[in-house]
Amino acid sequence: HAKSDGKGRYRFFASEMDAAARERHQLALDLRAAIGTTQFALHYQPQFEAATRRASGFEALLRWTHPTLGSIPPSQFVPLAEETGLILPLGEWVLHEACREAASWANPLTIAVNLSIAQFQQADLCERVREILSQTGLRPDRLELEVTESLFLETTSRSQDVLRDLKATGARISMDDFGTGYSSLSALQAFSFDKIKIDRSFVAQIGLTNKGGAIVRAILSLGESLGVPVIAEGIETEEQLAFLQQHRCAEIQGFLYGRPKPIADYGGLIDPAKYLLVA
Ligand code: C2E
Ligand code: MG
Ligand code: MG
Ligand code: MG
Repeated sequence: HAKSDGKGRYRFFASEMDAAARERHQLALDLRAAIGTTQFALHYQPQFEAATRRASGFEALLRWTHPTLGSIPPSQFVPLAEETGLILPLGEWVLHEACREAASWANPLTIAVNLSIAQFQQADLCERVREILSQTGLRPDRLELEVTESLFLETTSRSQDVLRDLKATGARISMDDFGTGYSSLSALQAFSFDKIKIDRSFVAQIGLTNKGGAIVRAILSLGESLGVPVIAEGIETEEQLAFLQQHRCAEIQGFLYGRPKPIADYGGLIDPAKYLLVA
């Protein structure tokens, strides 16, 4: 029956809510059980120098294959892992695994790893990073830690301290999803990032609207003024690539020339010369 009184509708929604909450709870339990198993894997997406068209590094992206539900996207399980605190062991595994993998490459390409806000708030984050670098033998400047401006929503001065300590490990700090939040410029003001990543929502507008191109150009010129290299993410078309090359974007990353995939799929050695953007 489509029509019902307010009370009935309320009960209907309440029970739906219960079902959603139960599902989330079950997923959180499954997530906990999955840690340390092969359900988690890293996929690697190449990043290219826009000028030389050579691979410059890879971003490690976490994948979860649930035993019954199949592949669950990070947009679903990362927030859940953050709420439950499971992001700490999981994030540590990601960092260790990505550094171990990159240390085995014949060429000194960079490896970018996403850090969540919960990891950032961990008292011993810098110690953990140092330890992982020393355990894996990865040269610290090959590690790029990607953070978002949400770090600065908390206590700005503490964030600056943590970022400074992180940088003292020798790792590089990139600002991910630049331009999407409320305080991207404040974050740039507060800290010297080693790289700015233009969010793909802006890249997607290149060629579609005048605004799209204008915003991307403005971010590129901001990076140039600050002396911070800019990487654009989410490049899906030749047109976007040409625009970014024309406006001297330092690096690019996107489905056009490289979807995230298991490292084994790259076949043996990770050689930047083999990963040229094809003309
Ligand atoms: P992100 O760090 O901004 O990563 C880039 C996302 O854009 C990835 O989605 C990637 O697959 C996607 N992408 C790259 N190129 C293209 C493109 O050309 N078109 C489109 N449509 N998408 C593209 P993914 O792997 O689903 O990850 C989503 C987000 O989940 C990441 O955004 C990051 O915030 C988070 N995440 C992924 N792995 C980890 C992790 O190990 N730790 C933490 N804390 N967060 C992670
Ligand atoms: Mg790189
Ligand atoms: Mg990222
Ligand atoms: Mg991003």
